[in-house]
Amino acid sequence: MNASHRRTCPERSRRTADGGKLMRIPIIAGNWKMYKTEQEAFQLASDLKQRLKDVDGVKMVICPPFTSLSSVKRAIENSPILLGAQNMHWEEKGAYTGEISPSMLLTAGCKYVIIGHSERRNLFFETDNFVNLKVKSALKFNLSPIICVGEKLDQREANKTEEVVENQVRGAFKDLNAKDAEKTVIAYEPVWAIGTGRTATPQQANEVHLFIRELLSSEFGKECAEKINILYGGSVKPENSRELLDMPEIDGALVGGASLDAESFGKLVRSAKQS
Ligand code: PEP
Repeated sequence: MNASHRRTCPERSRRTADGGKLMRIPIIAGNWKMYKTEQEAFQLASDLKQRLKDVDGVKMVICPPFTSLSSVKRAIENSPILLGAQNMHWEEKGAYTGEISPSMLLTAGCKYVIIGHSERRNLFFETDNFVNLKVKSALKFNLSPIICVGEKLDQREANKTEEVVENQVRGAFKDLNAKDAEKTVIAYEPVWAIGTGRTATPQQANEVHLFIRELLSSEFGKECAEKINILYGGSVKPENSRELLDMPEIDGALVGGASLDAESFGKLVRSAKQS
């Protein structure tokens, strides 16, 4: 695989955009992290339901803390908004104090689960192997994993972005076949852009997305790779979302800070519809 050729070959990227992006419905996913009490979460979800009731053509996912899953599920009933979780254990049950299992998420109404977020990798020492076990388990339980990958600032500055991202993608997708792979979502989240107000430029993000798509294509075939949504994450807000989402390889966003406010999340969703 020759990465520099891919990046400098507009023909190729345009073909991907035409053949690929049109097939993929954009996903805007909100990662609420460790914010919102149960009551606050219910209120935010109810507000979103009201604001976004007429939206189609965009998949909307909100991922509250575990303690608010059931009240958020109630709040978004009969709305197009889907429920996700922020993490899970790979085992179905067992003596794993403080952990949550895939079947618990499924029965709580989750359709998605974020796996391998950089905060999990960096603060809680999650390895590629853990990520892989979780991805396989999520798929087994019919949860769509949103698999996060992304380089740290020093790695980007040392020109190691592709190496880091390739290792994370290969690690996460180990032992998967194309049928499984196409049920996943990837979020490219450069660590230096998460919660910092610093965003990758649309070109920087698109370049890495294209790199990931080509990697998936070489592993699972072009047809499968074209079906996988690759989201961008890292200080996405209504002011910058359009230019990011307009890029041919960016199929949505994983949003932290700006998903905690109904008005800004609503604007983000609407910007995805226009892209
Ligand atoms: C995230 O938590 O995945 C994220 C991208 O956060 P923020 O939008 O706040 O940078």
